[in-house]
Amino acid sequence: MNGVNGMFDVPSCDSCEHAAVIVQNYSGRVLCNKHLAKSVRKKISRELRQQFEIDKGVMTTIFVAISGGKDSAVLLDSLVDILGQRRDVRIVAGTVDEGIEGYRPPSLVCAEELCKKLGVEFHTISYRDLQFMDMDDVAKRLPMIIDKDNDAPRMPCAYCGVFRRQGINHLAKQVGADVVALGHNLDDMAQTVLMNMTNGDLERTLRLAPHTTTPLDGMAPRIVPLRWVPEQEIHLYALHRNLPIHHEECPHARGALRWRHREMVARMEEDVPGTRHGLVRAADHIKAMRDQISDLGGSATQLAPPAPCVICGELTSGNQCKACDMRALLGLKFKEDFQ
Ligand code: SF4
Ligand SMILES: [Zn+2]
Ligand SMILES: [Zn+2]
Repeated sequence: MNGVNGMFDVPSCDSCEHAAVIVQNYSGRVLCNKHLAKSVRKKISRELRQQFEIDKGVMTTIFVAISGGKDSAVLLDSLVDILGQRRDVRIVAGTVDEGIEGYRPPSLVCAEELCKKLGVEFHTISYRDLQFMDMDDVAKRLPMIIDKDNDAPRMPCAYCGVFRRQGINHLAKQVGADVVALGHNLDDMAQTVLMNMTNGDLERTLRLAPHTTTPLDGMAPRIVPLRWVPEQEIHLYALHRNLPIHHEECPHARGALRWRHREMVARMEEDVPGTRHGLVRAADHIKAMRDQISDLGGSATQLAPPAPCVICGELTSGNQCKACDMRALLGLKFKEDFQ
């Protein structure tokens, strides 16, 4: 740290004389708002280039899944900033409405406001549109559907994750997306990797975005340009850019398995700075190893190509998709005429 500012011991930025807003323990850097913004933008641009190559002159549609929260707001703002001027790139945003009172309605307002501010086309789809039910109703029904004869997931987020994925797929299809951008930050990614590892779930690790080298058949590949930017830095950057963001947390979030992994990753990062980077790199290495084996003609790590679900037609690696399993658990019937 170079010096102090004012009465309190506030360290100075390591690149200028302004007061620092963050100490990056994982890199040893100390940054002011302006230099933090510069570093965040640089990381996002570099990842974007590495994760997805845009064919010059060929119209490319990027669908950005936004939630009204800080991460996806920073993602959309950055994509517009980096690619907005290109005539061969169309950026469209959309939100999946889970039906969560007190949480989703105000965040939808923020999402719409952000799109208006950036001049981006905005779409929404609700769980009811998808022939599911509002998440608040799923949460109420859970105690009734869990019994010893079935292995129904016990936490609302397990249902929500499956439904949301379908919502994003529908919106992406609707707008003719070539690629889907998601706002996962470094902390999210590290938590996911740890969750998959502790579950021994190699397949999910192999399917983890970005899908740069391994697009999943029939689906627009996912990119995650914020994946090296820590959550705290995204938050500071969103405030610095004055983006309209919703701060509340979903009422069903506590108690979810992710919540425990979030605490674990935060504690490990505090003890050993760089842990989050290490976890995400581990997943990259596993995927790279799979690519090498495939190049050599091996098939042990090849994922089964997805096929249409026998009930709803969504692509799935099984016979019936997870969403249809969950519809059945909730007593919902899928209607054929669904678009
Ligand atoms: S916390 Fe769980 S229930 Fe709430 S929006 Fe997220 S995944 Fe859905
Ligand atoms: Zn500075
Ligand atoms: Zn299905």
